[in-house]
Amino acid sequence: PAKRKVAVLGAAGGIGQPLAMLMKLNPAVAELSLYDIAATPGVAADVSHVNTPAQVQGYVGEEQLGDALSGCDVVIIPAGVPRKPGMTRDDLFKINAGIVKNLCEAISKHCPEVIERNSPDLFVDIMTARSHDLFPLEATPKAELPQDVLDALTKRTQDGGTEVVQAKAGKGSATLSMAYAGAIFADACLKGLNGMEDVVQCTYVQSSITELPYFASKVTLGPKGVEEVHPLGKLSDYEKAGLEAMKAELHDSIEKGVKFVSGQ
Ligand code: ADP
Repeated sequence: PAKRKVAVLGAAGGIGQPLAMLMKLNPAVAELSLYDIAATPGVAADVSHVNTPAQVQGYVGEEQLGDALSGCDVVIIPAGVPRKPGMTRDDLFKINAGIVKNLCEAISKHCPEVIERNSPDLFVDIMTARSHDLFPLEATPKAELPQDVLDALTKRTQDGGTEVVQAKAGKGSATLSMAYAGAIFADACLKGLNGMEDVVQCTYVQSSITELPYFASKVTLGPKGVEEVHPLGKLSDYEKAGLEAMKAELHDSIEKGVKFVSGQ
């Protein structure tokens, strides 16, 4: 399979660092570009000592962003700022959406094929993703489980982030498991790009499988990015009700993302 160049933007962060290391372990990666606004030289030096073939290069500061992106096949963006006391969710959204917007504009300039491979609305996808707009569908053979177990499983999935924040007791949020999820997704993108058949991954994309314009479902990834968005399988009554209950909030989040992107 072709050897690929992958960039991690925000590589010095809590998610970025373990994600950088996981991508260093991926045999499809020939070159690993680590970019952040600060502290990347140290992270790059450290990760480069992991003895796998991928060549690591650190880039720091906006003037090096173009070089970091040049020739990349896959770009992963864990960059952002954490919520500080007194900041509303809306404040945080505006700051992080602005960061991702700038980075996506740089991607379209320096490695446009990354954006072209995806739907032009890729950016909206990123802007609208929020963890608590979440109801697990088809995750387990749920129809056969007793109701109290189903409720507990669903709640635990929705509260996953909070559980880690509380367990870390003020010293951080979910970073290792987030990095792992990002690395699994990037690996699926690389496999698809390299022509592997039937790479199916749950992906949040522009979608017509429900009345919502964006939805996370099983997606086949291939050389051109998203090849096919699969319809939902058979849902239990419990899942159907959960999906309906979630739609209004998901709709509002999507609208917020779409408005941000269109500058309204
Ligand atoms: P998380 O736990 O989500 O990883 P962190 O705050 O630890 O949160 O990491 C976010 C990373 O994103 C930090 O290393 C920060 O320097 C980086 N970052 C913030 N703004 C930008 C930007 N405009 N470009 C690239 N990286 C950024």
